Amino acid sequence: MYKGFNFTHDYKSLPRTFWSPYEPEESEAPRVVLFNSHLARLLNLDERELEQDAEFFSGNKLPESAEPVAQAYMGHQFGVLNMLGDGRNVLLGEHNTDGEKYDVVLKGSGATKYSRQGDGRAPIDSMLREYIISEYMANIGIATTRALAVVDTGEQLTRQKVTPSGILTRIADSHIRVGTFEYAARQSTEDLKALADFAIERHYPYLAPLSEDKKYLLFYDHVVRKQAELIAQWQSVGFIHGVMNTDNISISGETIDYGPCAFMDVYNPDTYFSSIDTNGRYRYKNQPPIGQWDLGKLGESLCALFDSSQDEAVKLAQATLDKYPQYYNRKYISLMGDKLGILDLDYEEQYDVELVDELLGFMFEYKADYTRTFRDLYLTNYDKLPMFNDSDFINWFEKYQARKKAQSAKKDEVNIAMNAANPSFIPRNHLVQKCLNLAVEGHYGELKQLLKAVSKPFNDKLGGKYINAPSEDDVDPDFKTYC
Ligand code: AMP
Ligand code: MG
Ligand code: MG
Repeated sequence: MYKGFNFTHDYKSLPRTFWSPYEPEESEAPRVVLFNSHLARLLNLDERELEQDAEFFSGNKLPESAEPVAQAYMGHQFGVLNMLGDGRNVLLGEHNTDGEKYDVVLKGSGATKYSRQGDGRAPIDSMLREYIISEYMANIGIATTRALAVVDTGEQLTRQKVTPSGILTRIADSHIRVGTFEYAARQSTEDLKALADFAIERHYPYLAPLSEDKKYLLFYDHVVRKQAELIAQWQSVGFIHGVMNTDNISISGETIDYGPCAFMDVYNPDTYFSSIDTNGRYRYKNQPPIGQWDLGKLGESLCALFDSSQDEAVKLAQATLDKYPQYYNRKYISLMGDKLGILDLDYEEQYDVELVDELLGFMFEYKADYTRTFRDLYLTNYDKLPMFNDSDFINWFEKYQARKKAQSAKKDEVNIAMNAANPSFIPRNHLVQKCLNLAVEGHYGELKQLLKAVSKPFNDKLGGKYINAPSEDDVDPDFKTYC
């Protein structure tokens, strides 16, 4: 065992078409700039041995137990199908601990056979952004890949400007994507079945013993539900992924491939930040329907396994995909119920759904900060709400209080749920940007402070700049994110 890594190479048991052996490119002068001791402990790794191991985290010197491969996949990028694959990632193997398996991947480790015109490298600020945001998601209880370390390679890249290049070590339940199935379906039914069986064994093992006519359809159903519920969670905290291409949608139901992601400050359903999303395809309000669209591509890919009759298979796939809105709405309204402290809020009751919609309407009208509004409702800081004196809002508020009182849940239970659903802190765009700008210059102090706040999302005592809504001066109306 290498510093606690206990690697297997299950992915390499898949047909050869799914992967290629790959050696990371040499990094000139790698230096560990962030190391996640907490995650290292969770994974039973030897944190003191690893902490400064820039040779490992850069891929310069891998242990013999690592068998690095680049994975093949396709993906619908902004609606268009392309052959992709790991253009700048390498899978070292699966780390086995406590009966679980975790992919260990280096992101930004150099060009692979799937890189097309890319250089296989990553600007360090986008690796640091992934570290910050994925840690935050983990800390508020949203399924996500995680970051174990970031190294500065000691080399420069040219993107929007010249920037240091970085490598992120990412830990994931797996890197099987909707796009991996799109790829498999275009190879052979045999390959498709091999991948489906692999994904079932890894993520939904209780389905494995079922007969083939049930197993694959139920697998699809489970992925649809997991993804619908994940996106409901994103919506509930104002998270905007930024690139919901099918290659960035994980079969395990984890949030994956943090590129130009960001959180919404002021509530506006049209919000998006990504510099490459020119039409706002992936704006906040589009995330739920885009999720369904992406899962439709998974259904099309799996069809050959559903039934020998193409017509019948399509019908079965469609019937499963049609459940998405219900899975989504049930989870979303339940989460909004937690945010409001109404634990039996019901997605099938028009009254309940309207209660949420009306509040969002006031928030939009008053340009209210999404996170602050809900935290202030939890803290009963009602007078801090910008719409506090609006007579229509007062009417809403009375309805809200009455609905809250009518539930059977106990006060303690309500408070616990409200706290957990309404973080005090989000990694605000202006804060993240400031930290990244400093880090690119080699100053990591602010970023480490921010990461401390990220580790305590429900702490109202973080104070000032961390928990307050940004001031007008803080907000850059042209704020854009890059991958
Ligand atoms: P993304 O949208 O960031 O997940 O990337 C889409 C595809 O482009 C994936 O196949 C990536 O591996 C690939 N890619 C992104 N950046 C680079 C790069 N700098 N060099 C090579 N491939 C890249
Ligand atoms: Mg991707
Ligand atoms: Mg990627």
